[in-house]
Amino acid sequence: MPNPFPTISKQKQPQAWAITPNSQALTELAKGIWDCAKQTQKRPLVVLSTAGPLIGVRAALEQNRPKDLPSNIAFLPQVISFTDWLEAAPGAWKFPKKQTDLERWLSVFVNLRKHKVLQSWFKAESEAGAWGLAQAVIDACDSLSEVVVPKLQSELNDLLQTHTIDTEAWLKKVELVLDQAVAKAYVGLSRNVVDEESAVLLTFWRYLTNIGDPVIRKHLAMAAQMQLAKANAEKNPTTVRPFIWVQTADPKPIDQELIDGYLNDYAQFATVVRVDLDWQSVALWPEALCGLDAEGHIQVANSAEDSQIESNLQSHRQAEWRLLAARRFEELAWAATKSIESHLIAGKKNIALVAQDRLAARRARALLSRLGSALRIRDETGWKLSTTRAAAAFNSWLEIIRAPKEGPSASALLEFLQNPYFDLSHSLNTSPEVCVGLIAQLEDILIASQAKSGWETFTMAIERANSYAASNGGSPNAHLIDLIKFVRRLHNGWQQSMLDCSSAYVLLQKNLQETGMVQKLENDAAGKQLLEVLKGFDLSSGIYKDLKMRLPEWLSLLKTIIEEASYEEAGKEALATLSILPLSSTRLRQFDAVVLVGCDEQQLPAFSEPPLFFSDTLNRYLKSSTIAAQYIQQARDLSQLLVSCKNVDLLWQSKSKSGEPLRPSAWIQRLQAKLKDWRVIDAKPELYEGKSQPISMSVSMPNQNLAIPITVSPSAYKALRDCPYRYYVSSLLGLRKAKEFEEGFDASLAGQILHALLKTFFQALKTEEEKSHSPIHQGNEVRRLWMIDHLMKCSEKEFERLIAGDARVLGTLRDWQKQIPSFIDWQIQRENEGWRYHDAELPIGFTLSLTDPDGVQRDIRIAGRADRFDIHESNTTAAAVIDYKNQKMKKIVDRSENILDDPQLLIYARAANENTIAAHLPGRTVGEAQWVSLKAEIDKGEDKNIRAHTVEDMPNAMAQFSEQIEKDLNSLWARKPMQAFAPDSVCQYCEARGICRKGMW
Ligand code: SF4
Repeated sequence: MPNPFPTISKQKQPQAWAITPNSQALTELAKGIWDCAKQTQKRPLVVLSTAGPLIGVRAALEQNRPKDLPSNIAFLPQVISFTDWLEAAPGAWKFPKKQTDLERWLSVFVNLRKHKVLQSWFKAESEAGAWGLAQAVIDACDSLSEVVVPKLQSELNDLLQTHTIDTEAWLKKVELVLDQAVAKAYVGLSRNVVDEESAVLLTFWRYLTNIGDPVIRKHLAMAAQMQLAKANAEKNPTTVRPFIWVQTADPKPIDQELIDGYLNDYAQFATVVRVDLDWQSVALWPEALCGLDAEGHIQVANSAEDSQIESNLQSHRQAEWRLLAARRFEELAWAATKSIESHLIAGKKNIALVAQDRLAARRARALLSRLGSALRIRDETGWKLSTTRAAAAFNSWLEIIRAPKEGPSASALLEFLQNPYFDLSHSLNTSPEVCVGLIAQLEDILIASQAKSGWETFTMAIERANSYAASNGGSPNAHLIDLIKFVRRLHNGWQQSMLDCSSAYVLLQKNLQETGMVQKLENDAAGKQLLEVLKGFDLSSGIYKDLKMRLPEWLSLLKTIIEEASYEEAGKEALATLSILPLSSTRLRQFDAVVLVGCDEQQLPAFSEPPLFFSDTLNRYLKSSTIAAQYIQQARDLSQLLVSCKNVDLLWQSKSKSGEPLRPSAWIQRLQAKLKDWRVIDAKPELYEGKSQPISMSVSMPNQNLAIPITVSPSAYKALRDCPYRYYVSSLLGLRKAKEFEEGFDASLAGQILHALLKTFFQALKTEEEKSHSPIHQGNEVRRLWMIDHLMKCSEKEFERLIAGDARVLGTLRDWQKQIPSFIDWQIQRENEGWRYHDAELPIGFTLSLTDPDGVQRDIRIAGRADRFDIHESNTTAAAVIDYKNQKMKKIVDRSENILDDPQLLIYARAANENTIAAHLPGRTVGEAQWVSLKAEIDKGEDKNIRAHTVEDMPNAMAQFSEQIEKDLNSLWARKPMQAFAPDSVCQYCEARGICRKGMW
């Protein structure tokens, strides 16, 4: 039976009323409010302690509006949440300026700098950790203020009476009163504090407490509301409206005291009704019925209360309560999705998904998105802004800013350039057509050259690619350099050791403008909200405008604030609505069906993170929220939910990640013990059966329409020899894996530099030899020293720029310099055998003519770039080709054993012999070929003696190679089946593995 609304008495004290929090709660409340209006003949003011049921209460008032109301109370009673009511306090504009979260965090930062005693505390924290700690400090300070400030209420009341005179002077007075109170309370509180942590916190509190704090504003607002009521009562007592306070959730003891005091004072001028929730007929567990005792401990139920619970359970038991257990996470999400779908099919329009397990709820949400616009999904759990695409794009720019002065990593650069909000043509001030494929081209260059980080490295890689393109019939792309210059210029703007917050904000906005990101973010719902959050960083008009901090501190502050911000989805009209919400948000709200996911013993009840600084006992002393209070509240929320809604599905994962069995929440187990017929349903995904064919080795026949390349590089030919299927995938289909940048230094660009510097060195040697007075003619030892010295210097010079881009390259240079003396020894030994350096880095090739099966004559060019040619001094027809390898000798020897599968040197030899003019070797024949290691293991004796490895039986190898390549290319052009077949050593690094599915056959 509902409790009747009280008859309004003339006694000057609040009147108590309680409603039963079941499905009829809002109707009951609405009827009571109308009753109050009728009894007092005034339009009541209804303030709800939480905002959740606001819309429901207004709707219920409308539905239950009594007929024939007199005109003075015909308007809907005003219903407002406590927070909004505070904001609406008269004269609130004169209150101390409200501090933003950011300003409060900055105040922690400033105090930290000022007071040495606090610094030791934050020392061990990273920047992000320190900001997190700052938030905890602020929360704790608010808890302390909550206890102290009520003692100031009468002073605040007095001060408010004078605040119309001069706002400035008034604020000063408020500040003074507060300072005195804080100083006094500090002495009292510090007596209760024994540990160092709390002592430091108290010190913080003393320094941080400010008249702009929300606690102070709350008290000022309440005092102002009271003043207004008092003034109205003095003028005309009949104008003061009845005040109905609806306590929708159990308050913290400190809040209870505060509101009790307010209601008592207000009752001196007008009717006050305090509405609580009556758990008598709703509680399903004793703790939900009995609550806490005066000491804050959970009360033990007596036998009458136990039988009340028993009867509640029997009367509220619903056949539609379902208990569903799923074994794995995915199955849990599927089961939740299926439950929601079944409710939708049954015609339910307003469904709640209670996200006790937030991950599973997110996953279910993703699965439900296939229902499209027919289902509107409202996520009230606070979807973090940082998880949106817009925030990820913005973050990619922060990563560039954060990069050291040498430049970002290539992955960070590409991530930023590939973000969809970056406007390339706007940035380069050029037409969109010019930009097509530009970033893909940059990516190709950076990956191919393994340019891993640093502006100089990127620039060099592009310059080399451009000059290669220029000398090989391609077209160099100047926009690539422009692009690097553009991002580098913006990055340079951030290279200051300290920056002040307001100019950092201006610079950031300028960056977003220049990259065209502002425009694109404005056209995106999440982007717009992100820009709004960023506006909070405009400190130019506040007290922190000149505050200076280091760039990493500022960036992590920025990230933390974005991390805290929630993303609000725009609502759309749809056939049905699914609200994803926490259990606490279901209070006094009505749903057609509820799906509660995560009802296992670990997640239900769920407790908020314990405060960093206060123990549960200290919390009790501070009259703050305790674990016991949270436990009771959740038992009540769950009782209310089960009692108010017929269709409730309770789902949990019955096996934990580690495979341990997980039981349902103790509350559910207790219900099961009483309701014997309440069975658990095993939520199993629907299984579909089918038979699979065993996979056999992959073979492919190149399609007639598939173009076959008419140029073949030595490496492409090697790929064809290694595994025809791999060649098919990479060269014919052109499929390529998006390569990651490997850890460790970029061997490739360094390799190129090494080749280039050796060429420069040997050209310089040739020039020097022409000088008759040069010391190099003074015997082997002087020549040796000259060569070592020059190669050292030449190496320093060529590597200089690369090191500027990435200091780690210095190690590679030093490794190479250790090789130089023994490399020169090998060179001298070679010279003693009559060989002289002739030319290097020479593009060279030969053409094979074949007739394809259609009878068409095909000219295939086999071409590459030879590292070096030597000529013999005494034998005027002899020449040799050399390939430098940045590998150890062991690898080179292994390679030589399969020379026909990796015939790079034979290709160059044949190319030089077929066209001696192009090879700059007229009259000579290449009859010798060598690999030379640039990475010999000197300490193992791999020096001058075994730095080089010569191709054995060269004439025979050449003949075999020529026969083989013709056969291979004929098969390729005949489009014969290309089989996946290679030794594991090749497959290990093969990008086509996922396509050929090696390992499955
Ligand atoms: S994984 Fe091995 S068999 Fe498969 S395509 Fe690559 S190299 Fe060939």
